[in-house]
Amino acid sequence: MRGVVIHAPGDVRVEEREDPTIIDPTDAIVRLTATCICGSDLWPYRGIEPVDHTPMGHEYVGVVEEIGADVKTLKVGDYVVGSFVISDNTCEICRSGYQSQCVHRTFVAQIGTQAEKARIPYADGTLVATPGEPTEEQVRHLLAASDVLGTGWYAAVAAEAGPGKTVAVVGDGAVGLMAVLAAKQLGAERIIAMSRHPERQALARHYGATDIVEERGKAGIAKIKELTDGLGAHSVVEAVGTQESFMQAVGATRGGGHLGYVGLNYEVQIPGIRLFFAGIRAEGGPAPVRRFLPDLIRLIWDGAIDPGKVFDLTLPLEEAAEGYRAMHERRATKVLLTL
Ligand SMILES: [Zn+2]
Repeated sequence: MRGVVIHAPGDVRVEEREDPTIIDPTDAIVRLTATCICGSDLWPYRGIEPVDHTPMGHEYVGVVEEIGADVKTLKVGDYVVGSFVISDNTCEICRSGYQSQCVHRTFVAQIGTQAEKARIPYADGTLVATPGEPTEEQVRHLLAASDVLGTGWYAAVAAEAGPGKTVAVVGDGAVGLMAVLAAKQLGAERIIAMSRHPERQALARHYGATDIVEERGKAGIAKIKELTDGLGAHSVVEAVGTQESFMQAVGATRGGGHLGYVGLNYEVQIPGIRLFFAGIRAEGGPAPVRRFLPDLIRLIWDGAIDPGKVFDLTLPLEEAAEGYRAMHERRATKVLLTL
C-alpha cells in the first residue's frame, strides 16, 4: 500500500509500505477513505520530535475490510470512525470516560494512518460504525471527529463550557475552532476566540464566537479581563501548546474557573507560584475522543454541526509533502488527504 513516511525533518515522502494484516483476534483492517495532517504532525516535521523514516498519521475514517475472530460489534463493510488513541473501552479507566488513558493504550500515530489501510487493534473499543454510507461532505465531518473535533469538544467539556458561561479559546487552529463549535453546542453564553487571522476569525464566528480578541500574552489576558468585568472567563481552552499561549490561558481563567488544555506541548514550564495564586481548576491531555464519538457521529448525521469546514486544503495522498509544507507555512489550517 501507499503511505506517508517522514525520512528526516522536512523530508516527507509517499512510498510503498507493507500491507497490514490481522495479528491479534481483536484487530480490524480498515481501508481508509480519507485521512489528514494534524498540527501535531508538524512537531516531527520541524524536528522538534525525533523522526527517522517514521510512518505518519493518526486521523482516519474508512471501511472495515477484515476483522479478527474476537471482533463482535463490527462487520466487514461497516463504515467506521476511530479515535486517535487505541482503547479497549472496557477497562476501569475507559469506563470512567478516559479512554485516552486506557490500560491498553496505543497512539494511532505509531500505526500511521496517512496510508491506504491501517490495522486497528482493539477494534471494538476504538472504532464506531456510522449509521450508513456517508456522503462526500459527511466524510469530511466524520474525519474531523477522529481528532480535532473530539479534542476541541473534550477541551470545552474539561473547561466546563455551558449555559451562562463565558468561554475563551486560546488558539485559532483546527482544535481551537472546534472548541468554539463545541462551546456553542454546549450552550455557552459568550464565546471569545483569540485570533489574528481574518479567515480564521470568520470561521470562528461561523462556529459561534461572539467576540474576537487579537491581543496575545499579557495584553490578551488584559483584554479578556476587560470583557468580563475584570474577572476573567469562566472557561478557558488552551489549544496551542506554547509557553505564551499556556500562560495566557492560565491568566485568562477567573479564580475558581476551569481550564481545558489540549494543545500538545513539549517545553511549557508552569511556574508553581502562578498556578497557586491563579486558583483555577485544570484538566487536559490527549482527549478521550472515544467517549464523544457516538454523540458526534449523531450530530453530524443529523446535520447539526459542520466541523469539516476546518479543512481548507484538499490534496491526494500522493501530494502529502505539499500538504505538510502548506501547514508548516500556515497557508492552510488543516489539510485533508484523499484516497
Ligand atoms: Zn481501557
